[in-house]
Amino acid sequence: MNRHSILAAVFLAVLPAAQGAAQDTPDSLVAAAKRAAGRDYAGTFLRICVAPDNLTARNPPSTVVPDRATWYAKPYKVFDNLYFIGTRIHSAWALTTNDGIIIIDTNFSYAIEPEMVDGLTALGLDPRTMKYVLLTHAHGDHDQGVALLQSRYGAKVVMGAPDWESTLQRPATAPGGVPKRDIAVGPEGLKITLGGTTVEAIFTPGHSPGTLSFIFPVKDGGRTLTVAYSGGTAFNFPRLKENFAIYRDSAVRMNAAATAAGATVLMTNHTEFDGAYDKARIAQLPRSADEKHPYESDVRTVQRYFEMLRDCAEAQRLTMQ
Ligand SMILES: [Zn+2]
Repeated sequence: MNRHSILAAVFLAVLPAAQGAAQDTPDSLVAAAKRAAGRDYAGTFLRICVAPDNLTARNPPSTVVPDRATWYAKPYKVFDNLYFIGTRIHSAWALTTNDGIIIIDTNFSYAIEPEMVDGLTALGLDPRTMKYVLLTHAHGDHDQGVALLQSRYGAKVVMGAPDWESTLQRPATAPGGVPKRDIAVGPEGLKITLGGTTVEAIFTPGHSPGTLSFIFPVKDGGRTLTVAYSGGTAFNFPRLKENFAIYRDSAVRMNAAATAAGATVLMTNHTEFDGAYDKARIAQLPRSADEKHPYESDVRTVQRYFEMLRDCAEAQRLTMQ
């Protein structure tokens, strides 16, 4: 091989990636994200790609409890081992194991007693058997109740290390109080096993500096399905190029983890992103033998969610160049 053909071979080897990078524009990425979203994630696409959040639109935290009729949701058993105990807007879940309950996300403090404590009891579950509370991130809509669950039931609180740092700086008068530091998850992630059930925590910073996403098994009529639980969605962080790169890379990391685990169920912690409020109810209806659980899709559909997140974040990043 002469020098020219070696150069040509090298050039050809790197061409596809280089060409792809050169062709990506905000518009082409938004178009790719729209294709990835399809009909499955149209609302999420609209929220983060078409009209992304920004910090100036953010309201200060309010201590006013909204009218219960606007948020209260009944609790439901959604899978054999997974129970919805969230509001109409924010999801919280109880994952049951042979040795107690793993809670995934809490909620605003006003929702903790009526949705989580009373919800577990109404479903025939004993709140005193909760062993872990896994938090996707330290924002009030997902974490205000955690101090109460920790102090009352002795549940161990798990969250990303950077989100522990911000949590521990809160004043004691913060709504819902401040939890004591338990288990901090770093970039390497963590596996939590209880009663034969393992939840894998994936470090996916972006929405917050320590956002965690989770992979865990659920059972549907005895069949095991794998859930990819996306921990943070909106772009309500400082609009810096590096923040969008971090978010983009986390979407890629979670997509790889979901793919490796064969996840066919996509869940998020806001009901608007995964239809939890409706799906929890649809899951109560009788199904024919060939009907899937309302939450079950396929590996490719789960991948498309994270590709959409990746491309929406990269589109935003490129607008800053
Ligand atoms: Zn948040």
